[in-house]
Amino acid sequence: MAEFVVQQHDASTLHYDLRIEVDGVLRSWAVPRGPSTDPAERRLAVEVEDHSKRWGRFEGRIRSGYGKGAVIVWDRGTYESLEDRPIAEALADGHAKVWFEGSKLHGGWLLHRWAEGSKPKWFLRTLDDEEADTDRDLVAGLPASVVSGRRIDEL
Ligand code: MN
Repeated sequence: MAEFVVQQHDASTLHYDLRIEVDGVLRSWAVPRGPSTDPAERRLAVEVEDHSKRWGRFEGRIRSGYGKGAVIVWDRGTYESLEDRPIAEALADGHAKVWFEGSKLHGGWLLHRWAEGSKPKWFLRTLDDEEADTDRDLVAGLPASVVSGRRIDEL
């Protein structure tokens, strides 16, 4: 089973790093506003460089350099591709549906690329399935690390 993780990262700007395991590495997107359970909400997700699976377990402070700041594991779990072809192919075409089973995120999500470039722009949107919920605010309502129970301002 492939893993996913969402790390909250208080760098130059606060954002959420969504990472999904594809072929042994973590494909990664920076999501400024984090995921929403409202299927009407398209959250900007800027594709960034792949990270190691080991990095996906990191929680703490990056002391200097790129990304300096606090990181918590905001959510993690496993995911299944909802595509009928390898997920890497779907991502290469800029459109991939996945099913997350995390502590906070459950259900189907779509990653859709809408702009190319050195940092391609995607959006992240939950699918309108039984887990969708227009009334919840996951990011505000569930701020704590699923590993340590700490909030990012407590690191
Ligand atoms: Mn980051």
